[in-house]
Amino acid sequence: MNNRLYGNLIFELSHAGRRGFTLPKNEFSDYALPSEMRRASDAALPECDEMTVVRHYTNHSANNFGVNNGFYPLGSCTMKYNPAINEETAALPSFEHLHPSQPEDTCQGALELMYHLQHSLAELTGLSDFTLNPFAGAHGELTGLMIIRSFHERNGQPQRTKVIVPDSAHGTNPASAAVCGLDVVEVKSTAEGMVDVDDLKGLLDDTIAAVMMTNPNTLGLFERQIPEIAQLVHECGALLYYDGANLNPLLGKCRPGDMGFDVMHINLHKTFSTPHGGGGPGSGPVGVRKGMEPLLPTCVEKGDGDIYHIRRNEAISVGASLGNFSVMVRAYTYILSLGRDQLKMVGPLATLNANYIKESLKDVYELPIDTLCKHEFVFNGLKDKSTGVTTMDVAKRLLDYGYHAPTIYFPLLFHESLMIEPTENESLDTMDAFIAVMRKIAEEAQTDPELVKSAPHNTPIGRVDDVLAAKQPVLTFMNVEC
Ligand SMILES: *Cc1c(COP(=O)(O)O)cnc(C)c1O
Repeated sequence: MNNRLYGNLIFELSHAGRRGFTLPKNEFSDYALPSEMRRASDAALPECDEMTVVRHYTNHSANNFGVNNGFYPLGSCTMKYNPAINEETAALPSFEHLHPSQPEDTCQGALELMYHLQHSLAELTGLSDFTLNPFAGAHGELTGLMIIRSFHERNGQPQRTKVIVPDSAHGTNPASAAVCGLDVVEVKSTAEGMVDVDDLKGLLDDTIAAVMMTNPNTLGLFERQIPEIAQLVHECGALLYYDGANLNPLLGKCRPGDMGFDVMHINLHKTFSTPHGGGGPGSGPVGVRKGMEPLLPTCVEKGDGDIYHIRRNEAISVGASLGNFSVMVRAYTYILSLGRDQLKMVGPLATLNANYIKESLKDVYELPIDTLCKHEFVFNGLKDKSTGVTTMDVAKRLLDYGYHAPTIYFPLLFHESLMIEPTENESLDTMDAFIAVMRKIAEEAQTDPELVKSAPHNTPIGRVDDVLAAKQPVLTFMNVEC
C-alpha cells in the first residue's frame, strides 16, 4: 500500500499557515521596493513543511527515466551513457567556479582545454578549426549558415539565399535556414532512401547558398554518392553543410572534411557522451574547412609563449560568452578517456548493435529499406497492419516493460516510423532482452490487440490524449489564483 503523502502538484499538499522556512523580518525599510513595483496582494504560493516539499520532489524525480535507469533507444538522439568521470572533471573547483567575463590571463587552463577540444574535433572531422560557442545542435546549424551567408557576401554573391535540404532531414535543418533568413528548397529521396542526385542537379544554380546533408542520413543509411554531390555543389559555387549532430557512426572511420564538406556542426551532447534531453545543457560546435577560419564567431588560439587567447569575429555573434564550458570539459574528458584506439571502436560498435537489433526484428516489424544500416534504422510499424496496432501503441506498450520508447513518427518518409538507435554502449544481454520484448509486443498485437492499444498500464499516468494535451494544455493549478 502506498502510505506516502503524495500529490501530483505541490499545491495539493498546501495547508494555510504551514512553513518550511521562515525568513528573518526585513528591518531595512530603505531597501523596500518602490510601491509601483510591488504586487497588490501576496502571491498564492503553496504552504508546506520542509519534509513534505523534499518528499514531493524526490518522489517525482523517481518517476524520471534516463540512460542510468534503463535502455533508451531513441533514434537520432543518441542517448548514450554519460560516464561518471565526466562529472568529476566538470566539477573540479577551478573549472566550476570560472566566470565567463574573467580576464584571459586568469583562466589559461580553461582556454587551453578549449583549444585542445577544438583541435581534437578538427582532427576527428578532417576540418580546419572549430568554434565551441553554439549552445545546441540547432544553434550550431544557425551559426554554420550565418558563416556560409557571410562567406558568399564577402565573395560578392549576396544573391545566394537558398538552402537545399533533403526531405529526410531533421526538422531543425529547414528551421535554422528560415531563422537565418534563407529560403528552403527540398530535394527528394530515392526509393533506396538516398538523396536523389538527378533531382539535386535540377535545383543547383547561382541562388543556392548551401546544401545541408546528414550522412549517414536520418534513415541510418550512408549516402554513397557524396563525392559526386560535393563536386556538383562546389561547381555551382555553393557550400556543402554537414549536419553532424550524431557523428557516432563515423567516429574513427571516416571524416566529413575528407568527403568534401565545408562547414559542419557536432552535438557534443550526443556523440561525445554529455547529458542531454532533460539531463543537461547542450553544445553544438561548428567547424569549417581551411581558409574559412576567420569567419568563426569565437575561437581560442595559441599565441607567442603558449599564451591562449580568444579571437572574436565581430561580424558574427551567436550568443553571450564562449558556450557551455562544463559540457566542453565533459566531452574532452570522454575523448581523452577513450583515447585514439578506442574512439575508433565507437562507430563500428554502434553500427554492429543497430544491425543486430534490425536483423533480429525485421520478420515481425516492417523494414522498408532492407539494407545494412549505420548507427540507427527505421521500421515502418508492425509488419502485420491488419490488427490496427500502430507505432504509437507499440511505443506506449514498451513503457510497460520498462523501456524508453524509440523515436516515433520521424523521419516523415513513412507513416509509421519507429526509429531505433542502441548506441555502442549496450551489452548483448540488454539488446536480447529488448528484442524479446519487441517480439512479445508483436505477438500481443495478434492475440490481444486491445491490450497494446490501451497501453501503458503500469505507469503512474496512463495514455494521455496527445492532441488535447498539445492544443489545450492545462499549465496552471486551477484552484489557486496565481
Ligand atoms: C539532434 C539533432 C539535431 C538538433 O540538435 P539539438 O541540440 O537538439 O538542437 C539536428 N540534426 C540531427 C540529425 C539531430 O539528430
